[in-house]
Amino acid sequence: MAKARGKFNTMEEVLNDLRRKANENKVTSTNQSNTTSTTASTNSYKCEVCKDKGLVFINNDTAKICGCREQRKIDRLFKTSHITEEFTKLGFKNFSLEGKHSSVVHAQRTSLAYVKRYGELKESRENSIALLGNPGAGKTHLLTAISNNLLQKKVPVLYFPFREGFDAFKDDFDSMEGKIEQMKQVEVLFIDDLFKRSATEFEVKTMYSVINYRYLNHKPILISSECLIDDLLDIDEALGSRIYQMCKSYLVEIVGNRRELNYRLT
Ligand SMILES: [Zn+2]
Repeated sequence: MAKARGKFNTMEEVLNDLRRKANENKVTSTNQSNTTSTTASTNSYKCEVCKDKGLVFINNDTAKICGCREQRKIDRLFKTSHITEEFTKLGFKNFSLEGKHSSVVHAQRTSLAYVKRYGELKESRENSIALLGNPGAGKTHLLTAISNNLLQKKVPVLYFPFREGFDAFKDDFDSMEGKIEQMKQVEVLFIDDLFKRSATEFEVKTMYSVINYRYLNHKPILISSECLIDDLLDIDEALGSRIYQMCKSYLVEIVGNRRELNYRLT
């Protein structure tokens, strides 16, 4: 009995302490906004709702977990995805379809359909998407939009820009093994610009080992490449056919007049 009461006192003390601190903070921030500006109070807390405590008081005895904890989880996922700050802004809303070639419109619709159906298709064999073909058509933008949408839903994504990724291995050979393991294991792997500016035998073999592992373990891939599916088959038939098997429901080849397709030239 005494023990239970003791516990209750401790809990109450904790709550009281938090309340006292919350009030003190309120006073300080009001003072600050009176004397200087409001920036001081917005700078001091990442979350204004709970003042970074992770708890919000409903009444004197009850507190609930603040929504910012979920947001922090999402922020961490964005950080580990290696998607750059600038790319986190790429969504479907800022992908303009105005005056776009029909195959670009098709790529946008396919990407939207993919992200909507991700939950049901992630375990299946055809759980991946490939946007192939002309440069400048917006392939990276669309796959980044998919990635950002998934990350918001707390699905881990790893961004691997093919050329930069392999160049980085040359400078830091020790990190390679760990990185390749991550590329195999992460829930969603986004390979950007696969086989950009040709590929060495080592690069083809490495990509095959990653993609084949993911094929066997039903792990989704998002792929952009200037190679069409025939080019991928020419580079390596086993690898090309794996990609085809994984992406065939969501495979778009953007082919046509360069001037019509490349928004950077317009
Ligand atoms: Zn909060």
